[in-house]
Amino acid sequence: NKAVRKAVIAGNWKMNKTSAEAKELITAIAPLVKDAGCDVVACVPYVDIATAIEAAKGTNIKIGAENCHWAVSGAFTGEISAEMLKACGVEYVITGHSERRTYFGDTDVTVQKRTRAALDAGLTVIVCVGEYLEQREQGITDELVAMQTKIALGGVTEEELKRIIIAYEPVWAIGTGKTATAEQANEVCAVIRATVKSLYGEKAAEGITVQYGGSMNAGNAAELLAQPDVDGGLIGGASLKPNDFAAIVDAAT
Ligand code: PGA
Repeated sequence: NKAVRKAVIAGNWKMNKTSAEAKELITAIAPLVKDAGCDVVACVPYVDIATAIEAAKGTNIKIGAENCHWAVSGAFTGEISAEMLKACGVEYVITGHSERRTYFGDTDVTVQKRTRAALDAGLTVIVCVGEYLEQREQGITDELVAMQTKIALGGVTEEELKRIIIAYEPVWAIGTGKTATAEQANEVCAVIRATVKSLYGEKAAEGITVQYGGSMNAGNAAELLAQPDVDGGLIGGASLKPNDFAAIVDAAT
């Protein structure tokens, strides 16, 4: 029953936009999404956070980060902790994005640790899971995504689960223009919900927001978001275009 869940459309800007450009982009998006019936989030590069938060003041756009470290502080040159993000006014953070897993050595275990740290800091966490094309072809998508979900949620309490969003992002669909079909997206989002049910029970599973991500755009968002187990989207490329992002937000409303 989708009615009990919060739809969340989150932009993932990746390594795009200077802080001056971030201000422009937030300022351009804000009037277009002001009547959104879903939660609207922009996850931005670390150096854009301060200006993005300033530009989003008085709007319904919430600001997130794209990653966080698992320690509170210490000798981790070049890293940023969840506590630091929280202190800046950040409300959301992405963990386990496939680009972090593929290029920066994130594993299910480090994703669990980052998720733990983010929850401890009081953030809402968008945990990303998803299969590579070869894994889909091998027919192991469901098992793999269920395992990624279980490990990421290791140690997360039922109360904390209310601050978890899970984003299903098939790696082959990210930035490729190849979207999963609505049926493929729904099937795996349903597997994620069933996994949550096996860990926390029916009520928690009914309440958790599961997003789809991977080449979601103004043209395909409505069909994806109409699926019974797809509660929102994590949007890369299209989140950098105000009209496209706003059209996706409209489709979720
Ligand atoms: P995309 O990226 O929308 O550009 O495919 C999605 C993501 O990586 O979160």
